[in-house]
Amino acid sequence: MEEKQEALENQSGEEQIKKGVRIIQALRGMKDILPADQKYWKLVFDKVVALASHYGFERYETPVLEEASLFNRSIGKDTDIVEKEMYIFEDLDGTKVALRPEATASLARAYIQHGLWNQPQPIKAWYWGPMFRHERPQSGRYRNFYQFGFEILGEAAPIADVIIILLAYNFYHELGVPVSIQINSIGCVECRAKYVEELTQYFRGQRSHLCEFCKKRLQRNPMRLLDCKEEQCQPVKQNAPQILDSLCDPCREHFMAVLEYLDELGLPYFLNHSLVRGLDYYTRTVFEIYAAGEEGASQAALGGGGRYDLLVSTLGGRPTPACGFAHGVERAASKIREAGRVLPLDEKKDVFIAQLGEQARRKAVVLFENCRKAGIKVAENFYKNGLRPQLEAADKLQVPYALIIGQKEVQDGTVIIRDMESGNQEIVDINKAVGEVKKKLFLS
Ligand SMILES: [Zn+2]
Ligand SMILES: [Zn+2]
Repeated sequence: MEEKQEALENQSGEEQIKKGVRIIQALRGMKDILPADQKYWKLVFDKVVALASHYGFERYETPVLEEASLFNRSIGKDTDIVEKEMYIFEDLDGTKVALRPEATASLARAYIQHGLWNQPQPIKAWYWGPMFRHERPQSGRYRNFYQFGFEILGEAAPIADVIIILLAYNFYHELGVPVSIQINSIGCVECRAKYVEELTQYFRGQRSHLCEFCKKRLQRNPMRLLDCKEEQCQPVKQNAPQILDSLCDPCREHFMAVLEYLDELGLPYFLNHSLVRGLDYYTRTVFEIYAAGEEGASQAALGGGGRYDLLVSTLGGRPTPACGFAHGVERAASKIREAGRVLPLDEKKDVFIAQLGEQARRKAVVLFENCRKAGIKVAENFYKNGLRPQLEAADKLQVPYALIIGQKEVQDGTVIIRDMESGNQEIVDINKAVGEVKKKLFLS
């Protein structure tokens, strides 16, 4: 049995398949996040928590699995997400369920379900968790990916949009990644309807110059044509009527107020009249965050968001103005790595416990526990037997002291305390070791 196992480990995956033992890999587009990545993920998470605390946002966690109709109704049937990318299936009881492709709809659902409108408004929420989209895997995009986001529910004033944009910007800015903001307004139900009509007429006149994809989309969702990345559609897009010219007075005033705040704060932003975002629920302000030098590149946005005043009422709640943004964690972690962000050092340890022999290891484990309970930061390598590799490990960790237990010390009930810098050693009663170490470390 053991021999067989060893033989298997020495074979390539292909050879193993030949022998009928298929090596199982993670699903396509899904990724393990190993410690080398976790270091950067922790930077991302810590920054999110710090921002949430400063700006007074509270954490919400919603299930990864929801009724599928939640996303059909909120994100919109004509979107790529709902049409092609949702993990959707029938639960054992026949309910049509979906793995969440994003979290804003879930938060709006929770807002209604728990009567959060009864609490003082606005509700300031943040979340962090896995999302699922069955996209074509390409570099930096995963089917099981993580997002964090901030949402303000129950506030219509432009300052809410500004706080959301500020958070989205500050996240990258404060982690040392130069970014800029692209911003647009897509109006409200009334002024957008007028604009869509105008836009449809314009694109109809240009039909022969459009790509196949846009020709199809023209009937159902002409605003999505502004999003097209095909070369042949670019000149048509450039001359398309701009929504800013069609905004109604309240929408125009709202947008101007947002821009004035951004000027006041000195944030770097660019107006982008073809920015419409992919989801149906947005109204008025929409924005995206780009790394400096990547503005406008296809699918290069690091994150984005906007106002979604209709979402809560679409899901059956009372009319609730709201806005928010989401950033992808994988993109954030790799951007921070590229930016050469220096990782914080691992926590310094106070002592290293080394042991020689099985008897000594038993004493060492107990001493390890006693040190830890006394507030001493203690390192070990219980898996090595020789003293030298253990002391080398202690050296590497730059601990000031090592506690050494050999066979003689087991018999005498003692432990050696070694000053790692001078090499001086003293022998103390094992029951007094914790107290001695604390004294040396000035912990007591
Ligand atoms: Zn309007
Ligand atoms: Zn096109």
